[in-house]
Amino acid sequence: MSDKTHGFGTRMSHAGRAGTRAHGFVNPGVHRGSTVLHPSCEARKEAGKHRLEQVMTYGTQGGPTHYMLEDMIAEIEGGTRATILGTGLAAVAVPLLAFLGAGEHCLIPDSAYGPARNLAEGMLKRFGVETTFYDPTVTGEAIAALFQPNTRVLYTESPGSHTFEVQDIPALAAVAHARGAKVLMDNTWGIHHFQPFKHGVDVSIQALTKYVGGHSDILLGSATVNSDADWEVLRGTASQLGQYASPDDCWLALRGLRTMNLRLRHQEAAGLEVARWLEGRPEVLRVVHPGLPSHPQHELFRRDFTGSCSLFGVVFKPRFTHAQVCAWIDGLALFGIGASWGGFESLALPTSGNITRTATKPEFGGEMARIHIGLEDTSDLIADLEAGLNRMAG
Ligand SMILES: *Cc1c(COP(=O)(O)O)cnc(C)c1O
Repeated sequence: MSDKTHGFGTRMSHAGRAGTRAHGFVNPGVHRGSTVLHPSCEARKEAGKHRLEQVMTYGTQGGPTHYMLEDMIAEIEGGTRATILGTGLAAVAVPLLAFLGAGEHCLIPDSAYGPARNLAEGMLKRFGVETTFYDPTVTGEAIAALFQPNTRVLYTESPGSHTFEVQDIPALAAVAHARGAKVLMDNTWGIHHFQPFKHGVDVSIQALTKYVGGHSDILLGSATVNSDADWEVLRGTASQLGQYASPDDCWLALRGLRTMNLRLRHQEAAGLEVARWLEGRPEVLRVVHPGLPSHPQHELFRRDFTGSCSLFGVVFKPRFTHAQVCAWIDGLALFGIGASWGGFESLALPTSGNITRTATKPEFGGEMARIHIGLEDTSDLIADLEAGLNRMAG
């Protein structure tokens, strides 16, 4: 279903349903399988000619459960086709491997998700792809100057991991397209609040592990495109790499999507409430949340995004040490200490030690932590944070 006249909540209730394939049940079953049987040798040969379409030829090419999720992700992203991959990181890796080759050059923002940097500095380099890391806030002449004749990919992630710089995607895409490069974007933070293909993106990446799954119980990713030519390159690469996702996890992602709109709306409001509250605390130097007017790229955020998720940063005044910030987090009762985000549970992590920069030297001004707000009562979360800050200041 691709009915743009309906609101997001309606589409998330009605898209990707199994219809008659589920014998009348609202939800589909889980289709697991490797071998797909065909009525004749000729029929099998014919099916093989359509490997890039949603035909069943062999388990690795996908089955009904994958295809229902693919359709829903394409719907959310506003693209033509999506492919489901085993993790969010696989959804970063496959498009990079698809659109780059030996002797070519790639631009990656300095604020990118750490494992994306590791891939560029590891396997991409080993296979002859050169990467330049760039300041995520540049556009125009400054980004154009970094292009080389062999630059094939401009990678973006907006807002940036841990530091939440908002990128001017349309301006960057204009420069990239004028030079024949593809624009890849990790759109996990924006989810349906940022429509990548309206802003010039060619491949949009999602870690479905986050808000789509929503329950911290699956790992899954997606890469979505908006043209048949890009689909062939992307899906062809995923096939060559033997990429596959568990149908059980796809089923859980489909289930997660049914409530994602509601969860996101709650978490957006709760995240902003906690962020504003933290902003008023004397221990806090600044809160790094694109949805707050104090964010350096707030105007850009308002122009391009329709809302925010519940992941943001908090920077403490310089008098607080890393050990004090860790002790604050250790003492919180309702915030788990762990990686990932987008689940129903709140999380907190010290981030200062996780930030690697090679192109820029951003001054955060103090120790930083990353906060994910879940579905708990916001007043309880604030009381927990407050007790911790009082201990810290005390
Ligand atoms: C978590 C994350 C990923 C990777 O997702 P996994 O499913 O954990 O591999 C990619 N990009 C961003 C921005 C993320 O936060």
